[in-house]
Amino acid sequence: MIASIFKRFADNDTFYNPVATPDSRLLSVKERIKGKAFPFLASVSLTALSLGLSAAAVGPAATVGVAAGLTALSLVFTARSFGKIEKRLEEVASYDFTQLDDALRFAKRFPEQAALPAKFLRVAAAAGIPEEKIPRIYVTSSSDDFWVTRLKPFSREEHYAMVVGRKRFQNDSTESLLSGMAHEMGHTALGHSGTASLAFHVKTLPLLNLQAGVALALTGNILAGAAYTVAAYALNAVTLAKRSQYSEREADRFSLKTTGIIDAAAEEFDWDYDFEKRSKASSTTRKLLSTHPPSGQRADYIRGFGKANPEYCSQRRAALGLAR
Ligand SMILES: [Zn+2]
Repeated sequence: MIASIFKRFADNDTFYNPVATPDSRLLSVKERIKGKAFPFLASVSLTALSLGLSAAAVGPAATVGVAAGLTALSLVFTARSFGKIEKRLEEVASYDFTQLDDALRFAKRFPEQAALPAKFLRVAAAAGIPEEKIPRIYVTSSSDDFWVTRLKPFSREEHYAMVVGRKRFQNDSTESLLSGMAHEMGHTALGHSGTASLAFHVKTLPLLNLQAGVALALTGNILAGAAYTVAAYALNAVTLAKRSQYSEREADRFSLKTTGIIDAAAEEFDWDYDFEKRSKASSTTRKLLSTHPPSGQRADYIRGFGKANPEYCSQRRAALGLAR
């Protein structure tokens, strides 16, 4: 057990780069502690602390009863929010690229991206994603959309929806799209869209934090109850953000590994980086609470990967039928 933990830490360099010179700045031990160990320990301790405080205030029986009720409630809300997403998606055009008819239909609507479906399938094959788990593409009118989700997270079958804004297909280059789509596919292949997205949607822990705060307040410690609830909420928000940022890094790396696309991918983040520099949120707030790592850092990582593995990347691109 301990040996395997050490081995995983030692394997860090290969985890970051599939070939050649390791540049383990991003998924280094430090990153893993921040993105994996800290969120896990923080969630476990917050849960234990919240239940403990509540039990001390109102007794174990009431605590367990209320906690069970809140957990059930949060699951109902989760199912509802996934239901809403599905309903919204039912109203937009969608394409299953594994079906020739759909690929042709897509090519007709976006003639400049006619070659995309075939390349998308090659990315999926290169990533070892079985056909039934290849996401269906949903085209929305929002230009911001570029995300993936599991549909019906409580069912046994895994169906994924990749949601992309229409304008992306009209304005972005095929390489930029493929790189982004490979990133989203990474989220499904690496299990982020299952458990991690559930962790994001299921609001059990915030409810338990609130339960502890209310229990404290009921015993007369109103100020302590309020202070605990706020502090626990804040810590929980940072925990979720750190976990999500780590997933984003993993998905970025997944995209690089499967597509070898460097320039188009990095340029996309350069653009976001300019936007972030102009936005009002301070970089500290963003580092603590944003679901995504800073764009400048992501662009640097992508270029670092390209520099460390030029031969590998050009082989990957050639395998997808892109310019070497
Ligand atoms: Zn992502």
